[in-house]
Amino acid sequence: MPDLVEFRDSLDGELFSPDSSGYEAIRRPVNAAHWAVRPRLVVLCRSVSDVVAATTYATATGDRIAIRGGGHCFAGRSSTDGIVLDLSGLDDVSVAGDGVATIGAGARLGKVYAALHADGRTLPAGCGSTVGIAGLTLGGGIGLLGRKHGLTCDRLVGAQVVLPDGRVVECDDDHEPDLFWGLRGAGGGQFGVVTSLRFDTVPEPMTIRLEANWSDIALDDLVAAWQAWAPDAPDELTVNLALVSEVGSTPVQANLMGASTLDEGSTRELLREFIDRAGVDATIDVRSGVPFHHLKTTFADPWDAPERALRIRSEFFSHSMAHSTLAALLTQLGEPRTTGRRQITFTAMGGAYNRVAEDATAFAHRSERFLLEHIAEADDLWVDASWAIAHADGSGRVYPNFPDPALDDWAMAYHASNYRRLAAVKNAYDPNRFFDFPQAIQTTPCQQTRRTIR
Ligand SMILES: Cc1cc2nc3c(=O)[nH]c(=O)nc-3n(C[C@H](O)[C@H](O)[C@H](O)COP(=O)(O)OP(=O)(O)OC[C@H]3O[C@@H](n4cnc5c(N)ncnc54)[C@H](O)[C@@H]3O)c2cc1C
Repeated sequence: MPDLVEFRDSLDGELFSPDSSGYEAIRRPVNAAHWAVRPRLVVLCRSVSDVVAATTYATATGDRIAIRGGGHCFAGRSSTDGIVLDLSGLDDVSVAGDGVATIGAGARLGKVYAALHADGRTLPAGCGSTVGIAGLTLGGGIGLLGRKHGLTCDRLVGAQVVLPDGRVVECDDDHEPDLFWGLRGAGGGQFGVVTSLRFDTVPEPMTIRLEANWSDIALDDLVAAWQAWAPDAPDELTVNLALVSEVGSTPVQANLMGASTLDEGSTRELLREFIDRAGVDATIDVRSGVPFHHLKTTFADPWDAPERALRIRSEFFSHSMAHSTLAALLTQLGEPRTTGRRQITFTAMGGAYNRVAEDATAFAHRSERFLLEHIAEADDLWVDASWAIAHADGSGRVYPNFPDPALDDWAMAYHASNYRRLAAVKNAYDPNRFFDFPQAIQTTPCQQTRRTIR
């Protein structure tokens, strides 16, 4: 057994065990649904050599290891009863003259957007200021500029990775290309510890902020119109739709949020087309001149709150859902109850997301029209009921950043036809499955799918 004191003394960062002060705060991921998991140790890494030392130590002790960036994983994969590698001490952001940003793997989105803004740059990345750039990118990265610029992982041009054997490698299209391929859409906790990411950033745009909150509106018409319109809108316009049922507040509320980088006249014209198509009498708040990094902070996300125990199930749709499916979803969402908040969210795909070949990166979902999420408190069985209704019409594909422990065909759902190559990458870089968790990529592509992917 390697010496714990020696290990601790070798670190630039800090080591926490259950008897350390600060252990209770640092051991917890964001999602309270996973707070019962108590790690034996938490290593707060402040250098790449800390990551190497922790990896070597865990190899020697046989401890399970979990990598933590922003700590938001819905399936609790950044928690373990073994050793948590907390990367929050590696959060530097720098931008070179060519616009390539190097970002420490522990940086959260709020810091990333602010730091890039200082150089007039940004990334197509998600909402949620405390979400980690590493977790987000390694599973894809969907956001309000994505229909224009693609997934966050589509802007990744290189990464530094600590492998299970302690080697530190730089990967990009020319160096360790299979690893680099696997990181773009299937890299979360699978092959190695990413310590920094290099992105080809884009100029930060001025945006038009779009928002509407409606409670007295024909929801089936609204959603039907959105499905037919939003995924085909110009790339510069992203409009997402959430249907929310709050306890004690009826009826179901529709929240629209979006962003446009078109001029205001064209934006208003397109929104009018949507409203006319829906046949509803409704207005949308349109606010021009909002810098992108600021736009992110203006949308409140009630789910992005510490101490909430959350559960999500989701599925991509490659076509509009049947009217009967939609009607059943709305009925289910509107059922009276005594506790909690329930939400289904429609996120528009299409655009640049779909102009990348399915096998060009590990992110396989390149022909989808929208993503549907069902989110509620962790103990609310409505999530399963709502998901089951939608699943009848869905594509069978699931966003890897919304991991779903209840899936029985997860390999195909997350990775589709890329799974075989991912298994080969796993075999090459982590043959002993040092990085392991339920639904981790296997070293052989033996997972069977029980449902055909449409
Ligand atoms: C409030 C909220 C808002 C969200 N908004 C969006 C959104 O707008 N768009 C979107 O696409 N997604 C969104 N998500 C989903 C989000 O992308 C995922 O939850 C993501 O995995 C979170 O990354 P993290 O670093 O915060 O979490 P973590 O739990 O730290 O990590 C997630 C996974 O990545 C692995 N990982 C983390 N860092 C590394 C690393 N350095 N090397 C290797 N593996 C690593 C972890 O082991 C784990 O398996 C949101 C989630 C929440 C809770």
